[in-house]
Amino acid sequence: MSNALEPALDISKLVAWRHALHRCPELGFELNETAGYIERQLRELGIETHSEIGRVGLVGVLRKGDSNRAIGLRADMDALKIQELNTFEYRSKTEGHMHACGHDGHSAMLLGAAEALRSLDFDGTVYFVFQPNEEHGLGAQAMIDDGLFDRFPMDAIYGMHNMPGRPAGQLAMKPGGIMAGEDNFSLTIVGRGGHASQPHQHIDPLVIGAEIILAIQSIVARSIDPAEQAVVSVTEIEADGTVNVVPSIVTIKGDCRSFKRGVSETIERRLGELAQGICHAHGAELRFSYRRVFHATTNHPAETEHALAAAQATNPAELVEYPCHPMTASDDFAHMLLEKEGAYVFIGNGSDSVGGCALHNPHYDFNDEILATGVRFWINLVQQQLSS
Ligand SMILES: [Zn+2]
Ligand SMILES: [Zn+2]
Repeated sequence: MSNALEPALDISKLVAWRHALHRCPELGFELNETAGYIERQLRELGIETHSEIGRVGLVGVLRKGDSNRAIGLRADMDALKIQELNTFEYRSKTEGHMHACGHDGHSAMLLGAAEALRSLDFDGTVYFVFQPNEEHGLGAQAMIDDGLFDRFPMDAIYGMHNMPGRPAGQLAMKPGGIMAGEDNFSLTIVGRGGHASQPHQHIDPLVIGAEIILAIQSIVARSIDPAEQAVVSVTEIEADGTVNVVPSIVTIKGDCRSFKRGVSETIERRLGELAQGICHAHGAELRFSYRRVFHATTNHPAETEHALAAAQATNPAELVEYPCHPMTASDDFAHMLLEKEGAYVFIGNGSDSVGGCALHNPHYDFNDEILATGVRFWINLVQQQLSS
């Protein structure tokens, strides 16, 4: 949909921001160069900035009119510990670090929205929230703990993440759980090791562990309501043995995904019961720990409708998917949605050679062709929610 107020976006500037960020990937909270770069761009645009919120988090503020209404738009800034295998000119300059999740694109789109909104009509305040450390799930909470929602009071907050495999520029959302919660577990089986040739004298934690790994496959199949979604994956086995030694201790680690606390609690309970029962049957001891790492990203219904309206104003109907399927990946934007109304949307990164490569892959790249769509989505959302 076009209207007289729609700005002509400077695509080359969006691409330049994105490539500049892509060249200098930084990790976690160590984002001084990245946050500094973004802050300089905001200041050059004449946008008020507040730094060091959640260590290196950044908030830009743009006010118009006299309404008390306010919304927050969030982008993440951090990269990953991955060696980039792309060979294009703007590839990572930092050995072993890479923007493999497209947070460079998210930040560039938010900068683009800030630039465009300066010259557009709305009535209220927009907070541009640049968050550190999404990949380890710590940045959103750090910003909240530093007073994000007290210092910058907003009615709602919105987040957007690119998604390879979806058509380029497609906007997709759903009410309720859109990204899963992530839990990690560790099961340490304490047996009694010894010479590999004398198994009858030992309590072999490897054999017990193998039984446990098979048994816990029944959790999703037999203990979770089929209408719910859950994943239980064993991802690591650690043993202290060598080739001719039955180990004394084996640790099995794994990763669980779910959308509801009750489902997560069922997984935790059944893991403990199954592992404890099997260990007991074999005379081994169990040490069990279960840690909730990411909450499920759960969209609020009204704000999901607002995001849908903005998507419909941005794209033709065939490039809006509602309600979309949830994904079992995780995003710590979930923490923001626990504190504040809001919604999280996917923007398709493309499904072919441009944009189709999976997130966290050494060949991944954010698709520059979707930058303008992301910016227009933010603009439409602001103009609809803060209409003058
Ligand atoms: Zn990621
Ligand atoms: Zn990401």
